[in-house]
Amino acid sequence: MKGFTRREFLRTSGGGVGLAVLGAGGLAGCAAAMKGDIAPKTGRRVVVIGGGWGGATAAKYVRLADPGIEVILLEPNKEFVSCPFSNLVLSGVRPIESITFGYRGLRRHGVRLIHEAATAIEPDTRRVRIGEGYLEYDRLVVAPGVEFQWEQVDGLAAAKETVLHAWKAGPQTVQLANQLQSMPDGGVFVLTIPPVAYRCPPGPYERTCQVAWYLKKNKPRSKLIVLDANQNIVSKAGLFRAAWKDYPNIDYRASNKVTKVDPSTREVSTDFGEKVKYDVLNLIPPQRAGTIAVQTDLVGADKRWCEVNHLTYESVKVKNVHVIGDSTIGLPVPKSGNIANAMGKICAVAIVHLLNGKAVPPMAPGNTCYSWVNDREAIAVVNAYKVEGGKVVQIEQKLTPGQSVAWAQNADGWATSIWNDILG
Ligand SMILES: Cc1cc2nc3c(=O)[nH]c(=O)nc-3n(C[C@H](O)[C@H](O)[C@H](O)COP(=O)(O)OP(=O)(O)OC[C@H]3O[C@@H](n4cnc5c(N)ncnc54)[C@H](O)[C@@H]3O)c2cc1C
Repeated sequence: MKGFTRREFLRTSGGGVGLAVLGAGGLAGCAAAMKGDIAPKTGRRVVVIGGGWGGATAAKYVRLADPGIEVILLEPNKEFVSCPFSNLVLSGVRPIESITFGYRGLRRHGVRLIHEAATAIEPDTRRVRIGEGYLEYDRLVVAPGVEFQWEQVDGLAAAKETVLHAWKAGPQTVQLANQLQSMPDGGVFVLTIPPVAYRCPPGPYERTCQVAWYLKKNKPRSKLIVLDANQNIVSKAGLFRAAWKDYPNIDYRASNKVTKVDPSTREVSTDFGEKVKYDVLNLIPPQRAGTIAVQTDLVGADKRWCEVNHLTYESVKVKNVHVIGDSTIGLPVPKSGNIANAMGKICAVAIVHLLNGKAVPPMAPGNTCYSWVNDREAIAVVNAYKVEGGKVVQIEQKLTPGQSVAWAQNADGWATSIWNDILG
């Protein structure tokens, strides 16, 4: 596994559909050229949609558990950019290259990568469509992360290229960092937080710390207004409030849901009808499961998130289709990379057992979530779970007593280790 140079990152991070990878472990072609059965199935096969925290882990661990099973991973992006630690790119503490990785390690495990998006799932025939082509599967893992509900904020759909979310790490992370750096001293940075459930509960508050830290150091006359749709800080509230004592430049407003954005006047409106002016805006939109999951109707009555069996991660609605990561709901776990990685492993083991006609062992996930409160200190929350009566239940939750350099060192170790676990 290696980080990318800035040049390589900018060249390859278009994020769209591109030529599929050629060479060892890859499959040639592009969506337009793909017709019929792209890779005729000769034995047992698992197809994975999405090469992020959950999907890449699942792909690797199916191969580790049973190398006799063919694994094909569909992922349009040519490299993996980590959301965890991406808030540090905004504040200039880390370069984007340090959180950007290739998929070479997965190929070494025999995972076949196609750099394309799945366009439809056909559960009746057990096929995944890629444009006019298709792939057959025995078991399918759906791990597409989140999609934004643009329509929930007036004016956002039309402005989505310029109003940045930076909530999927990649080019927008770099663009938002540039906007922050270019903002005049005395300018106002507005960060808006969507209502739960959204990806990474503590993420927006870590971002608040990072932006405030940067402004305090580099633009002391500037301020950061945080418009939070929720009634209070959603995660690690006491720890974040303690950290914010160092940042008088933060103006935090709870229960302020953003309903409208107008880039022409550089204003957002809240549900109280208040208008807030900005120089730089970071609007994190409301979220739902990735589009392919919604399109396949894997989502529940809320039309947003997918319910799954707690032992196998098989969809409660569609047989032989497993959903992992941020797209799921119903387990008492946060939408975190740590959880997506754990789900990827548990789901892989379950699938291998099912394909080999064996009983699935009950396994619970675990979660440690670090948040950086400045350039060298972090806080953390640890959640422990067990399986009881076929369901995942929480055993306990622990918070660090305060912020410290030691927790930041732990965070660095966690990241290095888990990135290797996913992709190495
Ligand atoms: C700023 C920020 C900070 C965070 N910090 C932390 C942290 O410190 N610790 C932590 O544990 N978590 C953190 N998270 C949360 C973490 O990033 C997510 O929970 C995690 O990425 C979820 O994994 P996933 O596999 O569900 O989705 P993703 O990692 O987003 O992967 C989904 C993948 O699916 C692909 N995809 C989508 N649709 C298709 C399709 N149709 N066909 C093929 N591929 C498709 C996408 O391209 C993407 O690569 C943070 C998130 C943010 C935004």
